[in-house]
Amino acid sequence: MHELNFRIEDGPWNILQEHCDKTGERLEDVFSAALADFFDIKHHTIYQISTSVALVEGVIEGYVAVRDICRLGDFGLGTFDGFDGEGILLDGICWQACSDGSVNRAPDEIKTPFWVVTNFKATERRSINKVSSWGNLKAQLDKMCLSKNIFVAYRINGLFERVKFRSLAKTRFPMHLVTVTDSQLELDLTNVYGTLVGFWSPQFSRGIGINGYHFHFLSEDCKHGGHLLDLSAEKLDISLQIKNNLYLVLPETLPFLRANLNNDPTLALAKSE
Ligand SMILES: [Zn+2]
Repeated sequence: MHELNFRIEDGPWNILQEHCDKTGERLEDVFSAALADFFDIKHHTIYQISTSVALVEGVIEGYVAVRDICRLGDFGLGTFDGFDGEGILLDGICWQACSDGSVNRAPDEIKTPFWVVTNFKATERRSINKVSSWGNLKAQLDKMCLSKNIFVAYRINGLFERVKFRSLAKTRFPMHLVTVTDSQLELDLTNVYGTLVGFWSPQFSRGIGINGYHFHFLSEDCKHGGHLLDLSAEKLDISLQIKNNLYLVLPETLPFLRANLNNDPTLALAKSE
């Protein structure tokens, strides 16, 4: 840490004081945030709450509120306390896709046990044609990618000829992800406009992120959504942004501190699809 001493005019000083009084933020945090904005650091940072292995092992007690997730970025995905549906954060609005098939704005105070959030600012745009399946989408995205060793955020828009997705059902007890997905809701829609929100996480991050591609779907009318399982489309528009900065927030809850998190979650995650 470094100490900074400098003089500041009355005008900006008063604005700063007013801001801190109003929000309760510390002066140094406001400076750090302003510097990050100036140097565009925030835009390249993925903030992640907890880890994929913790989620798989049933550490599903929410501990960061949606309100706080939205302060960290405008784009991302996750789940809610006790696997209560699938979360989609798009254009700063957080949606909760529930296991009864409904999609609602997630209440600010609801907490999440696992979330990936960033500020999305596309640095590259392309279109892809004739997407025949989830496997085919991954293969087409692979061709676009310069390296598999860096995180990438994807926003994919278009008319989906078919899109299949799932929503987890809330459980009252800590449960392994594979057990929860046995009772998940699966929906299959045809000819629906929508958006895929998602990330590529490098192989070496398994245990931390959801290794490989991970997408959540939200229909344009925001009435349907969930964790993507399969799709087909004639043409899709891809926006992407490379992310070189991962900020990991670990829960200090007893279930997290006591869990055995030494297993590789890759197999369990594949099984839960
Ligand atoms: Zn998911």
